[in-house]
Amino acid sequence: MSHVSPAFAPVFGNCIKLLRKVLYTESGQPFLVAGSGTLGWDAVAANLIEKDEKALVLNTGYFGEAFADCLSLYGADVTQLGAPLGGAPIKKQITEALKKDKYKVLTFTHVDTSTGVLSNAKMIAETVKEVSPETLVVLDGVCAVASEEIRFDDWGIDVVISATQKGLGVPPGLSVVVASQKALKVFEQRKSLPASYYISWAKWLPVMKNYEAGTPSYFATPPVQLIYALETSLKTIMEGKVSLEERFKMHRETSVKFKTAMKDMGFKLLPLSDDTSANGMSAVYFPDGFKAPDILPKMLKRDIVVAAGLHKDVKDRYFRVGHMGVTVVNPERGDMEKIIKGIQDSFAEAGYKVPSGSA
Ligand SMILES: *Cc1c(COP(=O)(O)O)cnc(C)c1O
Repeated sequence: MSHVSPAFAPVFGNCIKLLRKVLYTESGQPFLVAGSGTLGWDAVAANLIEKDEKALVLNTGYFGEAFADCLSLYGADVTQLGAPLGGAPIKKQITEALKKDKYKVLTFTHVDTSTGVLSNAKMIAETVKEVSPETLVVLDGVCAVASEEIRFDDWGIDVVISATQKGLGVPPGLSVVVASQKALKVFEQRKSLPASYYISWAKWLPVMKNYEAGTPSYFATPPVQLIYALETSLKTIMEGKVSLEERFKMHRETSVKFKTAMKDMGFKLLPLSDDTSANGMSAVYFPDGFKAPDILPKMLKRDIVVAAGLHKDVKDRYFRVGHMGVTVVNPERGDMEKIIKGIQDSFAEAGYKVPSGSA
C-alpha cells in the first residue's frame, strides 16, 4: 500500500480522530510520526523550548531523568523535582517550585516504567493552573496511554507523548504526540526556528491536517503498515465491546489482583503507596537472596518474558511485569493466571519458600 494511495488517507485520518477520543480531547492535535516514544521528548524540546528557557521536570524514575537530559541537550535550563524512590513529588513541592521560578514547561512521567510509579496527572495540571497558568503541562504517557485515564481537555494537559507498543498494543515504531491549541500557539510564537528538521511541527502540522481531511500529503514517509495496525487497535479500544471507562476499570482491578498475589508471596512493591502505583504494570522487589538470573530464565522456560530492573539505585533488586491491553481486556486469554502461576512456580523451583503469615 502506498502512503499516497487514496485508500490509505482515510485510515490515517481515522487514527487521528480516534486518538482524540482515547484522550478525551476535542481540539488536541495528534502527530503520528515514524519513531519510538523517545521521539516525543525531542518533539517537545525542539518545538516548545528555546535556548535557556526554563523547564521543570518532575522525576519519578529513569524516564524523568532521561526527559530532563533531552531537554538540556536542546538548550533548556532544567530543574528537576524528585521524590524518594517509589514516590512522586507532592502538591506542596510543586507549588513551591512554581512560585520560585517561571517555567515555560513542566513535564512529568504519568507512569514511570522504571519504578511502576503513577503520578497524579489531574493534581499536577490543577496545580500548574493555580500557580503558573502560562506554563505548559507535558505528560509523558508512553506507558500510560490506554491503560490510565487521561482527560486531556478537562485537566488542561498541553502535550501528551506516547508510542504504539505499550498500552496501545501495536508493534513499536510510531511516535504518538498530541498537542493542545495553546501549545501550538506557543510554537507559532517562537522567536527562533524549531531546533529539529525531522520533528518540526511546522513540517508535520499540514500533513496531519491533510490526512485528517482525507487527502494524502507528504513531508517524510509514514510507516504505512503501523498506521493500519494502530487503526485496528484504536477501533478495538473505542468501538469494541469494552468501553473506555470499563477498560480503565479493568486495568485497576487486574493491577490489584496481580499486586495482591505478589504481596501474598511475601514480596514488596517499589511504589511506596497504592495511590502512586501504576495500573498497567508492576515493579516488584526480589525477596532477599534472589536476583534476576535466578528467576528470569525460569520464567522464560515457561514462555513468559518479564523485564529486569532499570532504575540505577536498585537495578538488580527488582523485576517488572506489564499487565495492559489484551492481557487485561481479554481475560479469556488467561494471561494473568499464567503469569502469576509462572512466578510462583519459578520461585518455588529456585528454592523460595513463601513465609508463613503470607498467603
Ligand atoms: C518506554 C518509555 C519511553 C521510551 O519509549 P521508546 O518507545 O522505548 O523510545 C519513554 N517514557 C516512558 C514512560 C516509557 O515507558
